[in-house]
Amino acid sequence: MKKKIIFATKNKGKIKEINLIMKDSNYEVISMEEAGINIEIVEDGTTFEENAIIKAKAVSDISNCIVMADDSGLEVDYLDKAPGIYSARFGGENTSYSIKNKMIIDKLQGVEEKDRSARFVCAIATAYPDGEVITARESIEGFILSEERGSNGFGYDPIFYVPEYECTTAEMNKELKNKISHRGKALRKMKQQMEYKEKQI
Ligand code: IMP
Repeated sequence: MKKKIIFATKNKGKIKEINLIMKDSNYEVISMEEAGINIEIVEDGTTFEENAIIKAKAVSDISNCIVMADDSGLEVDYLDKAPGIYSARFGGENTSYSIKNKMIIDKLQGVEEKDRSARFVCAIATAYPDGEVITARESIEGFILSEERGSNGFGYDPIFYVPEYECTTAEMNKELKNKISHRGKALRKMKQQMEYKEKQI
């Protein structure tokens, strides 16, 4: 029987994506809602890892289960790696992404292509009931375009251009994005680390 682990998110899309990656593992990932947990977690860490650990530990402490959480965002080098951990809150929590994207485009107006480098980063933390926490981080490198392109994906995808594939992450299909994205790679790395840990017990 598969071991249930809780993913500390209210986003159902993330649970689907993670279960797809975990399908050939010993784990079944369930949401906080499915686990009957409804708490507000204050993400006041200063790094992606700290925020992922805060979320995973908050839920693990009250559930006595293995809990996974992630934190991700966009780092734009020209903007000193902003919006970074504030990606969701950038320009206001309820501001649409067409406006957030426009704000980034405007901040980079006149900036040469070589100075428009950026990356999506994802850190994942898994908290075990015995207090141990493991983390995994991955990223995907790209450039910020001066206009939106593509309608797949979400968030900053329409302005994030990946040179190897000559398209934005909003122009990729789900399968390709999953294969090369910060979140897909970090999840696969975490899955390997969890399987390794299991073998040591
Ligand atoms: P969270 O990790 O769910 O808190 O997401 C942080 C924010 O980073 C999202 O709301 C998006 O603004 C941004 N972000 C993270 N991953 C992606 C991605 O794959 N595409 C576009 N935006 C992303």
